Amino acid sequence: MKQLTGVLFMILLLFSSVVQAGDASKSRSQIPDKYKWNLTDLYPNVEAWKAGKTEVEGMIGQFKAFKGTLDQSAEQLYKCLDFSSKVWKEYMRLSSYAGKLSDQDTREAGPLAMTQEIGQLGTKLSAASSFIDPEILAMNKQTITKFMAQEPKLKIYAHYIDDIQRRKAHTLSAREEKIIADAGIMSDTPYDVYGIFKNADMPRPEITLKKGKKVRLDDAAYTLYRASEDRNLRKEVFEQFFGSYKKFERTFGTELNGEVRKDLFYKNARKYNSCLESALDGPNVPTSVYHNLIETIHKNLPLLHRYLNLRKKMLGLKDLHYYDMYPSLVKKVDMSYTVEEAEALVKKALAPLGPQYESVINEAFTHRWIDIYPTTGKRSGAYSSGSAYDVHPYILLNFNGKYDDVSTMAHELGHTMHSYFSNKNQPFVNSHYPIFLAEVASITNESLLIDYVLKHTKDPQKRLSLLGNQLETFRTTLFRQTQFAEFELKIHEMAEKGEALTGEKLSRVYLNILKDYYGADQGITKIEDLYAIEWAYIPHFYYNFYVFQYATSLCAATAVSTKILKEGPTMRDRYIKNFLSAGDSDYPIPILKSIGVDMTTEVPYQMAMKKMKNIMDEIDKILQTKK
Ligand SMILES: [Zn+2]
Repeated sequence: MKQLTGVLFMILLLFSSVVQAGDASKSRSQIPDKYKWNLTDLYPNVEAWKAGKTEVEGMIGQFKAFKGTLDQSAEQLYKCLDFSSKVWKEYMRLSSYAGKLSDQDTREAGPLAMTQEIGQLGTKLSAASSFIDPEILAMNKQTITKFMAQEPKLKIYAHYIDDIQRRKAHTLSAREEKIIADAGIMSDTPYDVYGIFKNADMPRPEITLKKGKKVRLDDAAYTLYRASEDRNLRKEVFEQFFGSYKKFERTFGTELNGEVRKDLFYKNARKYNSCLESALDGPNVPTSVYHNLIETIHKNLPLLHRYLNLRKKMLGLKDLHYYDMYPSLVKKVDMSYTVEEAEALVKKALAPLGPQYESVINEAFTHRWIDIYPTTGKRSGAYSSGSAYDVHPYILLNFNGKYDDVSTMAHELGHTMHSYFSNKNQPFVNSHYPIFLAEVASITNESLLIDYVLKHTKDPQKRLSLLGNQLETFRTTLFRQTQFAEFELKIHEMAEKGEALTGEKLSRVYLNILKDYYGADQGITKIEDLYAIEWAYIPHFYYNFYVFQYATSLCAATAVSTKILKEGPTMRDRYIKNFLSAGDSDYPIPILKSIGVDMTTEVPYQMAMKKMKNIMDEIDKILQTKK
């Protein structure tokens, strides 16, 4: 319903972060059925899907009867919301089927056409139901209270209505709203220009690998070769790559300035105190959560510095440069698993979540909710999809038998269980959990998995490899994303004060923050001035205060998994009942608070820091005994 397509886009953005290329040499027909998802749970066949689609198309016209009538009576309001829920629920099921059919073989024209048809249907449906939110917004509080008392069935829509009503203070007259909506045709331009320039027009340098092979150094090649064990190569990669961005500092600066000015326009038009407040009002997250994250992480920079010193030592370097961040701390020890071994391992690791949780996982495997192996034409990466409300969630994997694949399996099962319990316990309108919470259940599972595996791995080299990976997650997710969040806040604050943002100025601000995080002044990391341009490479600065959620999710998940292991059944039952089953029946911060994770305090961050500290203590111990 409300902004559903936007929400789905963001969820995809988060969920598709784990991408690895699979061995896709097998065709689907070579894979036994038990390893493939069973889409007949959605529709027995394409014919049935078509019939379902015709039915939804037929319902669209009925919205008209409700238009302009929602404030007439409690019964009328309820009827409209109930009808809208029904139509959207069916639509999501249709969309889920078409999407998955296409994802299992992206080369097939039939399913692809189905996804396009369903996209068009979605646009029609959005247009037909677009009057609902503004009509609810226009109603006064007394009417809403009266309606709630008159029609008890409206209760399930209480949060939905409140979520609309709370925007009242920032909603303008109809004429002004029209102007704001019309301004939307310009609002994507900065990001579009950024994307086109970076992906199509920007000249990229070439580097020569040891064996004489020449490589075009675009963003993908950069992420590959910056992790090279050959120090000269990665130094060269950094110089060439950021050198190529630096040449267009002015252009990139103008683009990002345009984006920030767009945020400023909406902030001013809607009368918010700051761009941050304007952005966080969407998910209804207090700005104090954002400031608290930055302050707490900043206070804990010595912990990052300890890790950087450890990295220097483990890589055997005299001095640590910024281009030394990406190679593995120890030679990667590859562990391999069959699907059956992975399933057994994941179940054992998630056992602290209790028998109820385990029985649903069993169902996921035995009732074929999961599409496991890579096959020719199948979509890459991994995702969980819980949008078919009264069926069950599905998971797409590209399982290759490595530890990362097992971790991805645990991760996606986390999303699936979140969807499963929310769908089961909430009415459709409250079943889609908010973005701010989306990665908590999944990272909790990853965390429980690594804890279990470490507990059962004796080989010191394997342990070092696992612990090293975990440390890197803390650096890149907790510290690096907070560093980005700090930069994002700073440049918006500058714009709010009327300062013009040039490429040069953006680089100066970025470099200061970067040096702070990496302890450049204390001589911990050497940061060459050229790397100040790194901001130009990060597309997330166009996502309007989005990245801080990577850091908060990791902290919240660390707090959840730590508490589950420590507090046992009491915490796990609370977690299932108050968190996994909550959907978006409330706002994200109170939902987390109800399981004892208060993101407005330092506590969850301290739990994450403690975990990071323990990992380093453990690595120190292993290195000591190896001597
Ligand atoms: Zn995820």
